[in-house]
Amino acid sequence: MTNMTEQLIKITQQVNDFENKYHREPASVQLLIVSKNQPIEKIAKAFEAGQHAFGESYLQEALPKVAALPAIEWHFIGPLQSNKTRKIAEHFSWVHSVDSEKIATRLNEQRPPHLPPLNVCIQVNVSEEATKSGLKISEIASLANICMQLPHLRLRGLMTIPRPSHDFAKQREEFHKLLVLWQALRKQYFSLDTLSMGMSNDFEAAIAEGSTLVRIGHAFWEE
Ligand SMILES: *Cc1c(COP(=O)(O)O)cnc(C)c1O
Repeated sequence: MTNMTEQLIKITQQVNDFENKYHREPASVQLLIVSKNQPIEKIAKAFEAGQHAFGESYLQEALPKVAALPAIEWHFIGPLQSNKTRKIAEHFSWVHSVDSEKIATRLNEQRPPHLPPLNVCIQVNVSEEATKSGLKISEIASLANICMQLPHLRLRGLMTIPRPSHDFAKQREEFHKLLVLWQALRKQYFSLDTLSMGMSNDFEAAIAEGSTLVRIGHAFWEE
């Protein structure tokens, strides 16, 4: 077995263990491996080991990787600027960080018509920190409504990056806020199926609070 296969088995096992521990359905949490700062050769090995979805945060870094490994399902998870939307709409399957009408509209207009709709999540700032990207809680409903009208976008759910904390109870508290918002939104839009929350240091708390997609970087790559 290659190293990469072992690492993939290890992280998948952890996700499965947390599903069991918190009475989640088996396989209800999807694994997104975050490949920023990782070279193409290592990503290719992880793909060969069976991982199909990878996330990138910086467009310039991501484009050569996407070109080299087109069979991967690529997710854009980083900060969005207007001048980056075209390439993102052309080269990614998912965008987790939509946080304004302007960005949503541009992604919709720039999505090539021969591709399936771009899967998007609205990024929410649950900690309501001034410095962090993401929408205020009060702004979610209106952006969700806009995304639902855009034919080349498919709104899948909500995403958050909470204020980092080593306290498990505090981590759960922040993720619980996003869970409540997501459940409320799903009463209106039944098709929403994605709660993108949890990274290397807090994915247990995220799974406990209903995450359906964890974004794991260093816990996967570091041996
Ligand atoms: C880098 C990054 C991750 C992965 O972080 P780790 O702590 O390495 O697991 C997840 N989500 C986003 C948005 C990131 O930028």
